[in-house]
Amino acid sequence: MREKSNNLFQSAVKSIPGGVDSPVRAFKSVGLTPIFIEKALDQFIYDVDGNKYLDFVLTWGPAILGHSNREVIEEIKKVAENGISFGMPSPLEVSLAEKVKRMLPFVDKVRFVNSGTEATMTAIRLARGYTKRDKVLKFNGCYHGHHDALLVQAGSGVATFGIPSTPGIPQDTVKTTLTCEYNDIDCVRKLLSNNDVACVIVEPVAGNMGVVKPEKGFLEGLREICSQTGTLLIFDEVMTGFRIHSQGAYGLFGITPDLATFGKVIGGGMPVGAVGGKKDIMDYLAPEGPVYQAGTLSGNPVAMACGLKTLEIYERDNVFNSIMEKAERFYSNLTELCENTEDISFNYAGTMFTLFFRDKAPKNLIEVNECDFDRFSRFFKFMLDNGVLLPPSQYEANFLSLKHMEEDLNRYIELLKEFLKIEG
Ligand code: PLP
Repeated sequence: MREKSNNLFQSAVKSIPGGVDSPVRAFKSVGLTPIFIEKALDQFIYDVDGNKYLDFVLTWGPAILGHSNREVIEEIKKVAENGISFGMPSPLEVSLAEKVKRMLPFVDKVRFVNSGTEATMTAIRLARGYTKRDKVLKFNGCYHGHHDALLVQAGSGVATFGIPSTPGIPQDTVKTTLTCEYNDIDCVRKLLSNNDVACVIVEPVAGNMGVVKPEKGFLEGLREICSQTGTLLIFDEVMTGFRIHSQGAYGLFGITPDLATFGKVIGGGMPVGAVGGKKDIMDYLAPEGPVYQAGTLSGNPVAMACGLKTLEIYERDNVFNSIMEKAERFYSNLTELCENTEDISFNYAGTMFTLFFRDKAPKNLIEVNECDFDRFSRFFKFMLDNGVLLPPSQYEANFLSLKHMEEDLNRYIELLKEFLKIEG
């Protein structure tokens, strides 16, 4: 049934470490081997063996319009005809920057990079340069990409593989990364009390330990303490941007960060990341300021065109609200099911959600770690065998797109009920 994928994996492991270019794709944590993909269209993804899956991974978030939107693809083709990389400024990056500024009023300036990792790496360096302080504070279970300063107690793949921090990161670097549990504002107050921390970086809704929401007062508290102590507040919106609200955390919670980082939806599926924020901080970046950052492919015209067209459609077709209209019914059905069933719970924010195999929805990594991971693995396999692709870890968020129809969301619930019945 997945013979071609299995054969490809046998070849892949001989040439690529672990057979994959990003660890969670290996499906190792759920005791399987990866599926290799041939194509993706709308809410579906198709493997090389011809299996069709209803997709809740959505390339880990970017495909908010659904896969392979025709308008986006036509735009990419048109732009690529004129050249795929210039290494010089092009009008498209100005247009995308202006669009981001219009959509997110707290962004005065934006610098484009090639991934979410680069975005948070740049934001951290900028914060350190601007404040002339070395320490950074992050939260256990939040993942901000795979660069040294932030790969400490990170969620996502690092949590999935049980790695608190990874070999290869100097101890001196780890020492400058302070950590608190998510939602623990007292910890933050204590660690910031010496006025020597450059920045606090947070996923305003965590998505990398599954979806974990900020408790009332948490983000407000961060804003207040950061302002009092001269610490920059960075919202890492690589995942939440355009997904929890059309204006991200700023729109949902009414809180303004000093800097924000973006990725995923902002590139519509192409390699784009971005740092944006207040003018005086952003102008600290070279060539205007002293903090160096650069990229051969940054602002790549094809990637910019993909991001720009995606955001144009997002605004024009009121995509966020359209998804939410369908999602709300789904969420209320799922809430009811969780309330009536022992040992499952779920969290959602906008177009992202996670079902937890734990009685109560978790509020930090400690509680996520109490989930029944074996049961999650059985659920993942059951769904896969029934044509539904979920992120292969309890520590991940599921995503919805414009193309997910009511019947697709009902299918998730019906299959979950069937799974619970089988499990007894
Ligand atoms: N920040 C957050 C919140 C993320 O979810 C991710 C990736 O999932 C990153 C940063 C890193 O982005 P990338 O994988 O594009 O480097």
